[in-house]
Amino acid sequence: MTSLKGKFKYIFFDADDTLWENEQFFRDAEAKFIELLADYTTPEGVQHMLWMKQEENIPLFSYGSKTYLIGMADAAMDLCGGNLPEKIYYGIKDIIKELAFHELHIIDGVVETLEALKDHYTMIVATKGDTLEQMSKFRSSGLEKYFHHCEVMENKDEKNYLELAAKHDIAPEEILMIGNSVKSDIAPVVKLGGWAIHTPHDVVWVHEMMDMPESDRIIEVRNIREIIPMLI
Ligand SMILES: [Mg+2]
Repeated sequence: MTSLKGKFKYIFFDADDTLWENEQFFRDAEAKFIELLADYTTPEGVQHMLWMKQEENIPLFSYGSKTYLIGMADAAMDLCGGNLPEKIYYGIKDIIKELAFHELHIIDGVVETLEALKDHYTMIVATKGDTLEQMSKFRSSGLEKYFHHCEVMENKDEKNYLELAAKHDIAPEEILMIGNSVKSDIAPVVKLGGWAIHTPHDVVWVHEMMDMPESDRIIEVRNIREIIPMLI
């Protein structure tokens, strides 16, 4: 087993699908949206249109449920031939309300892990997306007490991780990032010389799909609790 003891002062944790379930709720929202538009086209047709609209809107409005609301409204508008019925629009809003305000499901092993590490490291949440939405999830998660604070990053690319390291006065090699996304949590950190622990999640967002890079500074675990003996 790789030992990382004494190597790091800070541990950075991704939030969505690392600390709490997220993508599954987006999948459920998508399924409801498909159902809502069932009279207009096939499930594949709805899905494809939504995906295209998301591609347009994410660069403009970033990630999160509000962007999903715009994407759904845009997709529905096209699928309804430019006349969006009130029933569909408010149906979309209901789907998004449920998505934005559902109770968080903390992933198995997370509390145990944070509890074990809390006296040994300064722990920071490093997430991305809509700032208000991410902060409200952080505050209502019940996990706030374990963390020094929560950083909502712009895009989790190399530049953002360099800024994160600078902000905490550490070298990029001193970053230890834990997360489920190869693209956002693993690849950029390792490219900068830092370390990453991958906690895979069975549902991966299409925008986050990427092959795992080769590096001996990547550690793969099945459950987050496996990191405890590596770190203390
Ligand atoms: Mg994640």
